[in-house]
Amino acid sequence: MPELPEVETVCRGLDPVMRGQKILRAEIRRKDLRKPFPPRLKSALEGATIQHVSRRAKYILITLDTGKILVMHLGMSGRVQIEGEGYTPKTHDHFMLHLKNKRVIVLNDARRFGIVLLVDAATMDDHPVFVALGPEPLSNDFSGPYLVERLRGKKVAIKTALMDPRVVVGVGNIYASESLFLAGISPEREAGSISGDRAEKLVQAIRKVLKKAIEKGGSTLKDHRQASGELGYFQHHFTVYDKVGEACPGCSCDIVKTGGIRRIVQGGRSSFYCAEKQK
Ligand SMILES: [Zn+2]
Repeated sequence: MPELPEVETVCRGLDPVMRGQKILRAEIRRKDLRKPFPPRLKSALEGATIQHVSRRAKYILITLDTGKILVMHLGMSGRVQIEGEGYTPKTHDHFMLHLKNKRVIVLNDARRFGIVLLVDAATMDDHPVFVALGPEPLSNDFSGPYLVERLRGKKVAIKTALMDPRVVVGVGNIYASESLFLAGISPEREAGSISGDRAEKLVQAIRKVLKKAIEKGGSTLKDHRQASGELGYFQHHFTVYDKVGEACPGCSCDIVKTGGIRRIVQGGRSSFYCAEKQK
């Protein structure tokens, strides 16, 4: 499943190709993904000029000069490809935009958990999809004091709280484990008990792991203005995620005593942590 760094990488790959381009033709190749494509989507897109491509949470935002924003979510298996004129659609290519610069933007989604929406730019934040979302993890709105305030009184485990998009967006299962390891906080700790310096440390840890992954993604972007290709999936190097029984990198714990990185299940999702370092 694409996580925030993958989606950010897709946006960074798309922006230079799509910015300033007119959409000559929109091809909608089936009636729905997870939800039906919006009515009149084709007529709303064709002839519009793209101002820029950005991101909110894991949504790709393609801002048009018509006051509308084309919103895409990649769901579980969505992929975005940049192709050239004359591209022949393949299986699961459900949505395609033909641009004036002869590039073809292709949304491929085998499992069809993705979403395509059209929203008004002026009222986007009030749209049901966006209205309850918490701050972006890399924005100044996400801070130690904010986190303390937001988690106050919460009995739920911190790992579970971090994955709640109303608290902060884009911290998925993998990055929650990685951030808690870096901050030295147990995934099982009660969310409301995290305060002061520890909250600040956690915020910085989240930023650091996400930024590192985004950098990694950025380094995989070739010049898509010239070349074709798929955007956004790249090889990650995790410290604790999926490393059960291994020694934790940079940790002073004794693997013979601790048995290495542990795995527990919280809210149906695996958490990985060091019981020695993380309290
Ligand atoms: Zn350790």
